[in-house]
Amino acid sequence: MKVNLLGLDAGALGGFFADRGEKAFRARQVLRWVHGFGESDFARMTDLAKGAREMLAAAAEVVPPPMIADNVAADGTRKWLLDVGNQNAVETVFIPEASRGTLCISTQAGCTMACQFCSTGRQGFNRNLTTAEIIGQLWWANKALGATRGGDRVISNVVLMGMGEPLLNFDHVLPALRLMLDDHAYGLSRRRVTLSTVGIVPMIDRLRDECPVALAVSLHAPDDALRSRLVPVNEKYPLRELLAACRRYLERSPRDFITFEYVMLAGVNDSDAHARALVELVGEVPCKFNLIPFNPFPHSGFRRSAPDVIRRFAERLLAAGIVCTTRRTRGDDIDAACGQLAGRVQDRTRRAGARLARAAQ
Ligand code: SAH
Repeated sequence: MKVNLLGLDAGALGGFFADRGEKAFRARQVLRWVHGFGESDFARMTDLAKGAREMLAAAAEVVPPPMIADNVAADGTRKWLLDVGNQNAVETVFIPEASRGTLCISTQAGCTMACQFCSTGRQGFNRNLTTAEIIGQLWWANKALGATRGGDRVISNVVLMGMGEPLLNFDHVLPALRLMLDDHAYGLSRRRVTLSTVGIVPMIDRLRDECPVALAVSLHAPDDALRSRLVPVNEKYPLRELLAACRRYLERSPRDFITFEYVMLAGVNDSDAHARALVELVGEVPCKFNLIPFNPFPHSGFRRSAPDVIRRFAERLLAAGIVCTTRRTRGDDIDAACGQLAGRVQDRTRRAGARLARAAQ
């Protein structure tokens, strides 16, 4: 079986060449071709010796997940659907803005976290994506957007905020992060790569030790009772432990901050009292809040907070000296907004089925 080079970071690719008696610097050359130029045909990698090209053609391949849909929203947001086999598909979203271009990528087919307000979470879970499937999203997007090495960077930022919980697929996410940061591959600075987590405490520590990219934490509530209702994993990793992990994350990089994401749900977590409790909760943790107006999906049971409620909430945080931005809803006409990524997931946990059965009782 051929090795898919999209799944190998610099270390693994160096090992691949060493095992075949080739020089380690071949890894750098191949990273540049595959990720920098989006090349998948070894015959066109002209600065490689002929023998090396033949070896690669026999032993390796560059295979991203097949792209099965490409939609552009009125505001320029673009969404791709990628086939990851067995009737599953995941989504990748590109969000162009004046000063940057952000790619939002998925890390799992479905999600086990079951956050109540999230469409992906409602669908159940199928499997973890491989490194090739994770980095393949960036590879495809670069190609589709016509990005060329040395030219203007179309994708300046990557966020792991699509489908799935990245810290529950750490072994496949880590090499993908390393490729994003690798100067020979995508060369993004670690502050321009953001991993968003629901709050898997022990894995936050591992990320800090192994690849401390920018961290976003999905907070969504100021107390354990409410958070456990919205984000069930809070039962396992309650707020006190989560905030302690955030502080530990910043210990080694004092110039950094945590981004707290907070979905605005009308009448659920958007009162003045909630804002006051949040200020109290985060205390001295260097942080910034990103309020996300809830993006509806069928049968969600939630409503988006009204604009003036969101504004007031933001003002409360700002008045306490906390930087706070409100995420503009992008791409909602193509269901590309946060929490609307549904893709296609064959649930293997039977959670969706169990819920339907309950609803029918
Ligand atoms: N599992 C990771 C990343 C995926 S979701 C995490 O939980 O952080 C990225 C962000 O979108 C999270 O903050 C998530 O809570 C939020 N989100 C999910 N559903 C949403 C919805 N319907 N409207 C607005 N934001 C939503």
